[in-house]
Amino acid sequence: MIRKKKKVKEKKMTNKPCRFCMDDIEIDYKNTILLRRFVTDRGKITPRRITGTCARHQRRVAAAVKRARFIALLPYVKVYYR
Ligand SMILES: [Zn+2]
Repeated sequence: MIRKKKKVKEKKMTNKPCRFCMDDIEIDYKNTILLRRFVTDRGKITPRRITGTCARHQRRVAAAVKRARFIALLPYVKVYYR
């Protein structure tokens, strides 16, 4: 009998703590040095599973990034010219 093994999606439990919870950092849209770390080099917001931020802080980061974009502190997209 051939039984297909169900692929169990491994949930990566990389106990990466949320940086904001750990150090109690306030998320400010003017703090672009901080926000830049949560944005890819193309200007996209990095997903939670990569940065390890908790849901609450990720939401705040996303809002801060969007606000920073609006007042042109962060780029919407970064275009690489070939
Ligand atoms: Zn957090």
